[in-house]
Amino acid sequence: MKRMVDLSQISDGRLYRSSDLVKLDTGGCAGCSACCHSMESTIVLDPYDMWRLQERRGFTLETLLDGHAQLIVCDGLILPVLTMNGPYESCSFLDENGRCSIHDARPGICRLFPLGRIYEGGDFRYFLQTRECGKGKAKVRIRKWLDTPDMAQYERFILDWHAFLEQLSHFLSPEEEDLRKAACLYLLQAFYRVRWDAEQPFYPQYEERMAAARRHFGFA
Ligand code: SF4
Ligand code: SF4
Repeated sequence: MKRMVDLSQISDGRLYRSSDLVKLDTGGCAGCSACCHSMESTIVLDPYDMWRLQERRGFTLETLLDGHAQLIVCDGLILPVLTMNGPYESCSFLDENGRCSIHDARPGICRLFPLGRIYEGGDFRYFLQTRECGKGKAKVRIRKWLDTPDMAQYERFILDWHAFLEQLSHFLSPEEEDLRKAACLYLLQAFYRVRWDAEQPFYPQYEERMAAARRHFGFA
């Protein structure tokens, strides 16, 4: 999800790679669940999140949409995001002890927080959102913080998915409503609704679906 922000206002002004050490260690977030409330529609699920949620918790898009997530228009495309419910606008996966009940399958945005990503020139860097989390005094390497195997492959996927969404968003003219609807349906079907093979690694499956999607839309 694109955000127009002045980085100097919300970060320490530095851009990082995953090999960098950053003051991120929250000591297990004891007694805090602030980033699991009032996150509005910012926890957007990507295909890798979908595969993990299916592989580790058996979720499908339909079961996620039954109280845990909703579809929203995001940069002109329709994508699933986690919902915030109740008087405290809480994520439905937050348990009664204030802990994440799907910790090992939590989405990439949750694994990333309080870091963000900034994309530029076909690449991205991480930045630290200094206003978002009061903890994080000890340094930890970003790649460890992200709790994601195969970091190089994951970062290639993040870039590729972002580039594809950008290209699709620009390709679809706001005037061509029917074309936009058909493209959004394709996107949901191909990357979220059709089940991933949870027994098989994610990336080859993603590459196959992405190649088909690029052919479908006539992207080089
Ligand atoms: S706001 Fe910071 S300390 Fe609190 S749960 Fe989120 S990451 Fe952990
Ligand atoms: S999925 Fe887990 S970490 Fe992410 S917002 Fe929900 S409870 Fe918090």
